[in-house]
Amino acid sequence: MKVLLVFAHPEPRSLNGALRDVAIKELEAQGHEVRVSDLYAEGWKSEIDRADFPSLATDTRFVPVAASKRAFETGALTEDVRSEIDKLLWADMLILQFPLWWFSMPAILKGWVERVYAYGFAYGVGEHSDKRWGDRYGEGALAGKRAMLIVTAGGWEEHYSTRGVNGPIDDLLFPINHGILYYPGYDVLPPFVAYRVDGLDEAGFEFAAERLRERMRTLRSTQPIPYRQQNGGDYLIPSMQLRPELGEPGATGFALHLNDADDAGETSGQRSQLQVAGAR
Ligand code: FAD
Repeated sequence: MKVLLVFAHPEPRSLNGALRDVAIKELEAQGHEVRVSDLYAEGWKSEIDRADFPSLATDTRFVPVAASKRAFETGALTEDVRSEIDKLLWADMLILQFPLWWFSMPAILKGWVERVYAYGFAYGVGEHSDKRWGDRYGEGALAGKRAMLIVTAGGWEEHYSTRGVNGPIDDLLFPINHGILYYPGYDVLPPFVAYRVDGLDEAGFEFAAERLRERMRTLRSTQPIPYRQQNGGDYLIPSMQLRPELGEPGATGFALHLNDADDAGETSGQRSQLQVAGAR
């Protein structure tokens, strides 16, 4: 497979830098072709502003969605953004790697998403009608490709369990896995999460590294998170609500958008535990 790893840590000698090297080495040993976007090293510009749209007249009000749409349609995106889009189209597999900062991705990576996910490429794709609501959530420009997260966290695994004070890791990562990766079509593999990493010793590092190698060895065979397809019949259009007969009675929240529970009779808590275990 062709693998694009987007790396968001400012220090190459960090734990993240070491885990990135472990991942790349294992991927190459498996015969995969790897490219890396190292956002800090490359001086990635994280914020969307007028400078992203040089063809926008100076007296025109800047509307980011409209400017993005026009730039994508007319081939006027800046070279750095165009280059990242080309890499996404090249890759069969996208990996986003980052330390968990304030329960999410570092700002530089969020800015990569905001700028690279142009209108007409990652959103605003496909027809809107009373049967379809665009090509998104399982459909879109990146459908047929796979994606996953590699995340390090200072908190303990228990802190991110279903009853943990930080909130379940599946919920915290849902906006990224579902909202950023599944949205333009990726099949999203369960994340690799290394917990309690601050002060990690050599043995702890080797344990995490081996778990990561195993995940890199099984990229092709790992089952994606079973998110529901938006246009697959599970949602009412145009309200985009899950049909009332689906999901567990009384259930709310992110787990409703997984379609394994209806078949397997699992509770969302059980499912989340399984996914956290899968991420270990
Ligand atoms: P580093 O600091 O580089 O290393 C971590 C440890 O790994 C060090 O002790 C290092 O010696 C050791 N190590 C062992 N072997 C190696 C090796 N071979 N190479 C390199 N290092 C090794 N945590 C949360 O859980 N939730 C949050 O919301 C959160 N928010 C944060 C916000 C900010 C702004 C910051 C700075 C931190 C936050 N943290 C949070 C903690 C953060 O997630 C961790 O500090 C981070 O994941 C550690 O990754 P690192 O690559 O920076 O590790």
